[in-house]
Amino acid sequence: MALALEAAEARLRSIMQTVPDAMIIIDERGRIESLSTTAERLFGYSMAELAGRNVSQLMPSPDREQHDGYLKRYLTTGERRIIGIGRIVVGQRKDGTTFPMHLTVGELRSAERHYFTGFIRDLTDQQLTESRLKELQSEVTHMSRYTALGEMASTLAHEINQPLTAISNYLRGSQRLLDRLDGEPVPMLREALGKAADQALRAGHIIRRLREFVSRGDSDRRIESLAKLIEDASTLALVGAREAGITVSFRLDPKADFVLADRIQIQQVLVNLIRNAMEIMTETANDRRLDIATAAGPGELVEVSVADTGSGLAPEVAKHLFQPFVTTKRHGMGLGLSICRTIVEAHGGKIWVESPPGGGTIFRFTLRAATMEEGADAN
Ligand code: ADP
Repeated sequence: MALALEAAEARLRSIMQTVPDAMIIIDERGRIESLSTTAERLFGYSMAELAGRNVSQLMPSPDREQHDGYLKRYLTTGERRIIGIGRIVVGQRKDGTTFPMHLTVGELRSAERHYFTGFIRDLTDQQLTESRLKELQSEVTHMSRYTALGEMASTLAHEINQPLTAISNYLRGSQRLLDRLDGEPVPMLREALGKAADQALRAGHIIRRLREFVSRGDSDRRIESLAKLIEDASTLALVGAREAGITVSFRLDPKADFVLADRIQIQQVLVNLIRNAMEIMTETANDRRLDIATAAGPGELVEVSVADTGSGLAPEVAKHLFQPFVTTKRHGMGLGLSICRTIVEAHGGKIWVESPPGGGTIFRFTLRAATMEEGADAN
């Protein structure tokens, strides 16, 4: 019996050394039994450092604190949230850096023991994420076109309404001037001018309606986990980050997790901010660090920040930053940030920028927090 067990263990060891996937086996209390050589490399730990440790050590907050609870819940309710389903989550390496990963969990039961096996794919690798990315990207691109349209309608409404109102006023004025004249064509002229004035007003209404329609949009606000939103958006936005030598850190406050938000729209805000930060750092900085953080407060709000170590804001854009068509990029549309502002304000939040004394740029925005009860329902 002892021999058979030893042989089985030796077999497992050799599997764990050769399996090309990152694989981790834990017991029902979350303690690490074994991990594959690929997993050691991926997380930067050796097996000896991790044996018997809680697997939550390989996750950032808020999962780190909550993982024991997840396990317990599964063992008592049998309700599957990840087992056999697979999800994108965030992993944390020994050096503290984090990365998006796809995790599939399987279950192994023998008479007296109960194990879970986790298979991990590192999603920082561009190829592996392609299909998932395409999916996200098409959702987000669809939304950005839609929002870009709204933004243009907004600008148009403002720019065009003024001349339209002026035209209408001139026409009404001309009608009154005609009152002082006599002659056969006068009534016809009066009528024609009146109709022209009506049409000018109508054009203004149409454009205002378009703006209202788009700014209300098909917004689909639900209770969302901010950690999950950030994970998904980062998966998309961080493609190419590693190649560009950008270190990414996530500091997610578990107390600031549930928000009331349209998932796609908030992802779009995050993707815009992250891509802008990556672009500026790649162009201007040697030290490239991106920090994405959440924090509770003030009041019923949750604050999200995206900070970079780029060269900071160009003075010519700083003043008009969140307005449409403000750009320093040759092929830029200058719509990204104005779309972010529209979305965040439609959510009842605010977006602003800070230039920290040490350099770089921090964009911050707020969202409404969902209450604890609402959050528990959504989880
Ligand atoms: P676009 O990316 O098309 O230029 P945006 O509205 O996203 O449009 O950005 C507007 C401008 O704001 C950019 O052209 C750039 O000059 C500036 N900007 C945006 N994000 C940053 C950042 N993280 N650091 C420095 N400048 C930025």
